[in-house]
Amino acid sequence: MTDTTTSPTESLEYRAEVKQLLDILAHSLYSDREVFLRELISNASDALNRVQFEMLTNHDVLDPDAELAIHLYVDEEANVITLSDSGIGMNRDELVENLGTIAHSGARTFLQNAGEGQRTLEEIIGQFGVGFYSVFMVADEVTVTSRSYRLADEAAIWQSSGDSRFSIGSADKTTRGTEIRIKLKEDATEFARPWRLENIIKKHSDYVSFPIYLHGKEGEPKIVNRRTALWRQSPSSVEQAQYDEFYKQLTHDEHDPLLHIHMVADAPANVRSILFIPSARERGSLRMRPDYGLRLYTRKILIQEHNKDLLPEYLRFVEGVVDSEDLPLNVSRETIQNNPVLRQLKKALTTRVQKEIKTLSEQDDAKYLKFWEQFGIFLKEGIATDFGSQETLVDLLRFHSSKSAGDDWTTLKAYAERMKEDQKAVYYVIGDSLKSVARSPTSTISASMTSRCST
Ligand code: ADP
Repeated sequence: MTDTTTSPTESLEYRAEVKQLLDILAHSLYSDREVFLRELISNASDALNRVQFEMLTNHDVLDPDAELAIHLYVDEEANVITLSDSGIGMNRDELVENLGTIAHSGARTFLQNAGEGQRTLEEIIGQFGVGFYSVFMVADEVTVTSRSYRLADEAAIWQSSGDSRFSIGSADKTTRGTEIRIKLKEDATEFARPWRLENIIKKHSDYVSFPIYLHGKEGEPKIVNRRTALWRQSPSSVEQAQYDEFYKQLTHDEHDPLLHIHMVADAPANVRSILFIPSARERGSLRMRPDYGLRLYTRKILIQEHNKDLLPEYLRFVEGVVDSEDLPLNVSRETIQNNPVLRQLKKALTTRVQKEIKTLSEQDDAKYLKFWEQFGIFLKEGIATDFGSQETLVDLLRFHSSKSAGDDWTTLKAYAERMKEDQKAVYYVIGDSLKSVARSPTSTISASMTSRCST
C-alpha cells in the first residue's frame, strides 16, 4: 500500500542541461518527430531485457509470471496514447534520477553539438537519439507511472509538461513495469491514429524481440512487430533489405551498412551472429558513439549490450549481434569475460571478419577503398597492437605513392613490385616498429618486423 505521508508529491526543477534540451526539442521544427516512439519502445525493450536477465538468478521479483511485453493503447478522441511495459520498472528515486537529469552520454553530446550549431537537429537525432525526452516533441504532458521489480519498492508517479519542472509522488500501480501516458500536442494528433502508429512501429521497431500489442478502439489488440531474431535464420532466407533494416534499427544509423556478415556455426562453439561494417566512421565509432561492443545473447536473452571481448579492440567499428547456446544462462556480466566459450567465439568472429575484409579487398576495389578510407586507420592500429594478425592485416594496407595518380591508393605488394632492380626492400613504420617488405625470389612479398624503433 502506498504511504503518502512519507512520500508526498513534490515539484522539482530539472537540471539546467535538461531544461536546455527540452527547450530545443519543444521548439524545433524537426520533421521526423515519429522517432519519439522508437526511443520509448527502445527503453521499454531495455527494461524488459533487464528484468529477464534479473530473473535468471533472482526469484524475488514482482510478477514473475507476467508476460514480457509492450502495450500501446490509443485514445483517438482524447488525443492520448499510453505505452506500457512489464520491464524492470523504477521506484521514486530512480524516476527522479533517470528522468530528471541527463546521465545519458548521447544526450549530452547532443547538446554540445546542438550548441555548436554545426549539425542539424535531424543529423544529431539520427545519430544519437535523445532518448526519453524526445517525447516532448509531440507531448503537451507526460505522466510516467512505474513500479520496480523489487518487492519492497512502492509505485511512483512522475509528471511533466516539458517546461522547467516535473512533479513526483506516490502511485497505486500494483503490477511491475512502467506506463507512459502521453497527452499529444494539438499539432501531433497524427500520433493518435492506430494505422500511423502501426507503420511507425514496423519501420523502426520491427526487430524488437518482445511483442508490441497495439490496442485500438475496436477489436482485439494485435501484435504489430515481427520480432524476428534475424541472426537465427538461415542466411539464404534473409534478403539484403532485411539486413539493412535490421542494421538501422540496431544502430540508429540512417545509412545502409557497407557490409554484413551472417555467421552460422555449431563448432567449435555454437554461434549465430550478424555483424556489420558501417558505411562511415563518422557515425561515431572513433569519438562520438557513447559505447562500442557487440550485443551478446544467450538463447535470445540479451546478456550484454556492449560486449568488448568478442572482437579485438581495433575492430571496434564492427556492429552487430552474437548469440551462442554454449554460454551458460546464469552467467553474470562480470564473469563472462573469463568464460572459455567467449574466447572461442572471439577467435571465430575475428577470423571471419578478417576474411571478409580480405575478400572484399580482392573482389571489389571501389568498395574496398571506401572501406579503407573510413576504417584503414583501425587496421593500422591492428598491425601495431595485434601481433598475431600482422601478416593478415598487412595485405589489407593501402598507401598513397608518388606513382599512384591523385588520390589513388596502392598496396604494399604493388609498391614493392615496382622497386628498382638494386633495391632490396621497402621499409615502413607502424606504431613504433620498423617493418620491411621485400621482393622474394618467387616474387611473393613477405612482410617482417626487422627491429624496434626507439621512440
Ligand atoms: P537512455 O535510455 O539512453 O539511458 P533515456 O533518457 O531514454 O536514456 O532514459 C533514461 C533512463 O531512464 C534509462 O537509462 C533507464 O534507466 C530509465 N528508463 C527509461 N524508460 C524506462 C522504462 N520504460 N523502464 C525502466 N526504466 C526506464
